[in-house]
Amino acid sequence: MRLDEMLEFNEQFVAGKEYEQYTTDSIPNKRMVVFTCMESRLVELLPKALNIQNGDVKMLKNAGAIIRKPFDSIAKSILVAVYALKAEEVTVIGHHDCGMSRIDPDALTEEMIEKGIKEDVIQNLKSAGIDFHQEFHGFETVEESVMQSVNIIRNHPLLPDYVKVHGLVIDPATGKVDVVTRED
Ligand SMILES: [Zn+2]
Repeated sequence: MRLDEMLEFNEQFVAGKEYEQYTTDSIPNKRMVVFTCMESRLVELLPKALNIQNGDVKMLKNAGAIIRKPFDSIAKSILVAVYALKAEEVTVIGHHDCGMSRIDPDALTEEMIEKGIKEDVIQNLKSAGIDFHQEFHGFETVEESVMQSVNIIRNHPLLPDYVKVHGLVIDPATGKVDVVTRED
């Protein structure tokens, strides 16, 4: 299991006091929340490309950097970062070649059944009001999707005026970012 490799590495890491170079506190130094995609190509590339060090930002991620409801877990995390952790800027970062732009909710459901989820479980969830299309659909263009997420945050009834919300798109090959929208 990969987990065993990680646990073994961790013992060495702690024993060697390698954590010392990362010491910081939980108030983000740049007073910023970054909300981006869970894309594995961005794990190291995004912070390096934007000069984000340990302790600099609150980093939130999900599949596609998508917020579609004002009270989902990402929106709540942003509010906590603003009110409890002094964040003053929120930057949504989508990326080119995002897997969420290609997600087909029907194919995903087929995949679930193939991997052993019983069809009646899915039927029951659907009857209980879980809309698989709504929950799992992706987006047409990443710029539109970033704009949609930014607008939900900007228009959030609980977001104070002084918080600036920006939208960027990053290239997962080069790390180059383009600004979709910014608030000054
Ligand atoms: Zn992605």
